[in-house]
Amino acid sequence: MNNITLIAGGGIAGLSLAYELQKRNIPYVILEAGREPGGVVHSFVKDGFELDAGPNSIGATPATIAFIREIGLEHEMMEAAATSKNRFLVRDQRLHPISPNPLKILTSPYLSGAAKWRLFTERFRAAQPTDTEESVASFIQRRFNREICDYLFDPILSGIYAGDPARLSIQEVLPFLPRWEKEYGSVTKGLFKNKGAMGGRKIIAFKGGNNKLVKHLLSLLTEPVRLNCRITAVERTATGYSVQYQAKGQTETMQVARLVFTTPAYATANGVQELDPALAQLLRGIIYPRMGVLHLGCDQDAVQNMPGGFGFLVPRAAGLHFLGAICTSEIFPSRAPQGKALFTIFTGGVQQEHYFDEMSDEDLQQKILSELGTLLQLTKPPVMQHFSRWEKAIPQLNTGHRQVRAAVQAFEERFPGIFISGNYISGVSIPAVLQHAGGLAEKLAVVS
Ligand SMILES: Cc1cc2nc3c(=O)[nH]c(=O)nc-3n(C[C@H](O)[C@H](O)[C@H](O)COP(=O)(O)OP(=O)(O)OC[C@H]3O[C@@H](n4cnc5c(N)ncnc54)[C@H](O)[C@@H]3O)c2cc1C
Repeated sequence: MNNITLIAGGGIAGLSLAYELQKRNIPYVILEAGREPGGVVHSFVKDGFELDAGPNSIGATPATIAFIREIGLEHEMMEAAATSKNRFLVRDQRLHPISPNPLKILTSPYLSGAAKWRLFTERFRAAQPTDTEESVASFIQRRFNREICDYLFDPILSGIYAGDPARLSIQEVLPFLPRWEKEYGSVTKGLFKNKGAMGGRKIIAFKGGNNKLVKHLLSLLTEPVRLNCRITAVERTATGYSVQYQAKGQTETMQVARLVFTTPAYATANGVQELDPALAQLLRGIIYPRMGVLHLGCDQDAVQNMPGGFGFLVPRAAGLHFLGAICTSEIFPSRAPQGKALFTIFTGGVQQEHYFDEMSDEDLQQKILSELGTLLQLTKPPVMQHFSRWEKAIPQLNTGHRQVRAAVQAFEERFPGIFISGNYISGVSIPAVLQHAGGLAEKLAVVS
């Protein structure tokens, strides 16, 4: 019997878990379906611009920074410029500066008087805490109103999940809001009472591109990732599990004591199909929408209306063809050559996926460029343009996700030694993925 822990998937979740297991002297092997490790973390250089098609910036918690220090990557870490705290939202074809301080939102022309009134009076509205899972739209419209959902929460959630507030679960994506309603009777009261606890994150990235994190983790691992190995099925044996995988067109099997899935839900579904068809069906139900990432490099002097800050988000109601843009070189100047500006623009996701069916990638880029040109008052065409497509981008933690979590827990109890992880369990941000890997390794240390 092989006393090894098999890690399915060599994205950040799989690699960080391997690192955590190695630290605890637990033997592991990583099987990765792709030709390269790293999953959605993908960086490259074009015409002197450093581009990230996956994660661009990391909202690092103190635990993330401690991890980066621990692995010896601190010297490659860049902190975002101080102006990155400035954020903008688009309404009526222009950029509105938005402060996270609700009192400042009350004085901004971004929201109508009616919406500001609902914001201001939220604390007097009767609480209706419920233990039933609720959509973001239902919760926000109940506590505030439709406009606040459409013009504040819709773009904010586009920026993280490229999702739809009518489907995302508030308990999953903004769990502190229903908690505050329960504890304080009001979301705004909760915000003021927890003001200090909300900060503490630093926006960071890695010099040269965020795949530096992947490369560095790989350099620390004593076991190489086995590439081009796609796990297809798992069977229970008398002593553990028999894992079937495809490698170079051949079907291979490996006998293991423990197995951790860090693969996307739809891939994990295939792995658990024979063991638990009902869980497999739930996992297949998790939506991963298509997304596009457009990188634009411009001469700095061609950008007449440069937002001095992190970037801007676009509410669906604004009717544009993109979800938002990061002013990459404003926050991380070394991402662009001297005298140039780099923008990273996101399109698609649940609400805009239909554009991929309705127009070619070239037409979509042209449309985005024209809309962006108006907002930024671009006077010259970009000097660099690159478009990346993700066919399955970010898992949607929609209402019903609680059922997935319950089924995963029941499965793990029924099949000791198998753990189901991945960003639809840990949370999608890199800090959440890293933190989850540490916790999982602790659990594995107990059973190993
Ligand atoms: C466009 C985009 C932008 C993002 N921006 C940010 C950001 O700015 N900040 C942030 O914190 N987060 C961001 N995220 C989220 C974050 O990058 C991801 O949640 C995180 O990288 C996921 O890591 P993972 O290892 O869980 O999954 P993945 O990266 O998806 O890795 C899973 C791995 O499993 C492999 N695999 C699949 N099937 C099999 C199989 N059958 N057998 C073996 N291996 C298999 C895949 O090839 C892949 O390598 C972004 C994500 C995307 C897509």
